Amino acid sequence: MGCGLGGLAAAHCLGRAGHNVTILEQAEAIGEIGAGIQISPNVSRLFRRWGIGDRLDKMGIQPGAFAFHRYSTGERVGWSPLGEEMIKDHGEGYYHVHRADVHQMLYDLATPYMTVRLNARVMSIDPSIPTLTLQSGEVVSADMIIAADGVKSMIREVVVGGPDKPIPTGDAAYRAIIPTAELLKDPELAGFVENPEMNAWMGPNRHIMMYKIVRILFCRSCGRALTCFPKRPTDWNMVMAHPDDEAVESWTAEGDVSKLREDFKDFEPRVQKMLALVPRALNWRLMDREPLPKWVHDDGKVALLGDAIHPMLPYRAQGAAMAVSVPPFLISTHTHQAQIEDAAVLGVFFARLTDRSQIGPILDAYQTIRFPRTSKTQLAARRNQRIFHYEDGPEQIARDNSMREAMLRVTG
Ligand code: FAD
Repeated sequence: MGCGLGGLAAAHCLGRAGHNVTILEQAEAIGEIGAGIQISPNVSRLFRRWGIGDRLDKMGIQPGAFAFHRYSTGERVGWSPLGEEMIKDHGEGYYHVHRADVHQMLYDLATPYMTVRLNARVMSIDPSIPTLTLQSGEVVSADMIIAADGVKSMIREVVVGGPDKPIPTGDAAYRAIIPTAELLKDPELAGFVENPEMNAWMGPNRHIMMYKIVRILFCRSCGRALTCFPKRPTDWNMVMAHPDDEAVESWTAEGDVSKLREDFKDFEPRVQKMLALVPRALNWRLMDREPLPKWVHDDGKVALLGDAIHPMLPYRAQGAAMAVSVPPFLISTHTHQAQIEDAAVLGVFFARLTDRSQIGPILDAYQTIRFPRTSKTQLAARRNQRIFHYEDGPEQIARDNSMREAMLRVTG
């Protein structure tokens, strides 16, 4: 259930393991909202194994490094190589990709194994049989239900056995796109383009992430993402986290661009120039949840996957190579692409299923093996919220000094 990145990855993994998969999706059309997504080696490795590594190479940008800046001056306080270093240390690359490309790629990958039913909004579920009742009144039955229905998951309450809502994190994020051609017009901003790196500016209660992606273009007749690489132009994806005052829980809500500029007015002059180039921005409330060890309904036929079980702040999408070059509080040995990992684990386990009676124990094993990793990542993302957003003062100075030391160790 749910045709997001998690649902599609699960459809591929379970289908390839020999099972018949039907995805029930409430939307009228297949598509993905948003712009950039960071794909780190834990996931690019899976993609390569699944035979889509070459496509990832074509549609992704591999940033040379990750640069951290002081918000007010632009001083580079941290720098960590990605690119070749990532491949050397982890056997796979670190990519920035358009979300719609990743979605289309997973959709194409899963297509031989799945049936997708659009306009199929699930209204209720009976976990004992199990069955799902759609908005149309139709009842759909299955041997097993994997609920990949996102951060606002309705199935989660059924699994947990009571009310259970996502938690506002106190932050919201603007998301904006600036065409590379616009940055190139200004010599100071063109510097970002010449040697593409991922850039972060850390300031009191807010931060900015900026990286390059290949622009998505859709075929006019079939609506699919075009794969005419490398002809597609590039953009710079900006995610700007700030205290949540008036954001709404929607990935498509428009933000107020003048308020965005006001919110980041204390940031360095280059940021001001870039914000002046932003024509429009989305703004959405960032929600997460406490780690939950119960992923499987007691009847053993319904399990949760992806944001339905472990939504987290998007503040930990750094690659594992930084383990050697930035201070421990920013280290990420895995990112929040946990939904793809969940799917991979399900696929491996269900390839060994020989009898329906094994569904419950296998789902329990899935929960047991995944929970420690995903809960650690959820909590680490919250920790990064605090660390990225220190007020100017002793903690911020200690953070920046320790990043400078780590940078010096790398750059000499
Ligand atoms: P979703 O993508 O939310 O999909 C859920 C699907 O279920 C939807 O299609 C929905 O329509 C469907 N659905 C819901 N309810 C029903 C119903 N009742 N009946 C039928 N269908 C239903 N992750 C990364 O890995 N890297 C990043 O760089 C990154 N950056 C991010 C930046 C921001 C600002 C944010 C907010 C998130 C970011 N994430 C990133 C997180 C990532 O987007 C999510 O973890 C991921 O999209 C979750 O996938 P999912 O399939 O679990 O859920």
